[in-house]
Amino acid sequence: MNSPASWQTELTEAFRSSESLAAFLETSLPTLNQYPVLIPKKLAQMIKNQGLNGVLARQFLPDSQESSLDGFIDPIGDKTHIKTSQLIHRYHNRALLIPTTVCPVHCRYCFRKNELQSDGPFAQDREKTLNYLQAHSEIEEVIFTGGDPLILSDEKIQGWLEALSTIEHIKFIRFHSRVPVILPSRLTRELSNLFESFHKRFKIVLSVHTNHKDEWSEEAKQATSEFRPKGMKWISQVVLLKGINNDAEVLLELFRFLANLDISAYYLHHPDQVKGGMHFWLSLEEGRMLWGQLHNRLPGWMLPQYVIDIPGGEGKVQAFNPEGHRFSGMLLNRSGQLKAIARPSFQASDSSTLS
Ligand code: SF4
Repeated sequence: MNSPASWQTELTEAFRSSESLAAFLETSLPTLNQYPVLIPKKLAQMIKNQGLNGVLARQFLPDSQESSLDGFIDPIGDKTHIKTSQLIHRYHNRALLIPTTVCPVHCRYCFRKNELQSDGPFAQDREKTLNYLQAHSEIEEVIFTGGDPLILSDEKIQGWLEALSTIEHIKFIRFHSRVPVILPSRLTRELSNLFESFHKRFKIVLSVHTNHKDEWSEEAKQATSEFRPKGMKWISQVVLLKGINNDAEVLLELFRFLANLDISAYYLHHPDQVKGGMHFWLSLEEGRMLWGQLHNRLPGWMLPQYVIDIPGGEGKVQAFNPEGHRFSGMLLNRSGQLKAIARPSFQASDSSTLS
């Protein structure tokens, strides 16, 4: 595994402007002030090797289509469930903790791309957050998200785990992260030891966010194979994206690859209708047809749940409704009621939702 400092150096030296990245890639790129660039140099080299029409370029290079006003600022209704500025309590027995808004890369399709680039709503509010968790004994799982929680220093991660370990009803800890793919040098021996030191107190789950097999460098594969703290479980979350992985063969290859890395299939997300990312959006009918092919061709243990967040904050539901591939415009919500989720046209009022 890598030395503890190398990942921080890689992050410091990452490309942070369209101009410097364009010069490296010998191309021209738009400057989108609202959605800045962040790409570590090793990833930029992979983009260069793969070509400017490759799946890496399309996920991480700025694109003038991001200027479209179509879509929602807060597509899954985070703000409906914010309890402290670092905590979203949407589901009864689990809560999302946002300890940082920093990421190892800026994914152009990100469903929080408008929230992470604004001044709010996620600030530092540790004491209030811990008090809320203490007071809500129904919460048994804390899900670290962001930003990317593995960007935190070991000391900060340890501080959070120590604080949470004093709250008796919290039994499960989950980290959602793009770090294993984008910045594998972060998977250090020290971080492994840190997770392992809590394995008797919590079940720790690491959910790696990956959308295509070609994202995985040899370094990422090796670091992920070696990073196996005692008691920790690896799962995967994949976002369905037009032009990236809306192809059954690509998805089959990805889930077989993840199985070989001993990473359990967890979620295949239907893309959220996020402002600045609508060029990655695809219809539910297309998604259902793709998932149907996965269902037919993968063994059950390799099959992800296909889920969609109902806009407005109602939470995730199964995206593969049993009536067939044709989408009626309605989904069953978590109370079993039919809910219309028509695709939004440009929503002028959204521009002020986070101010
Ligand atoms: S790492 Fe995650 S939170 Fe950060 S930009 Fe990518 S998808 Fe969004």
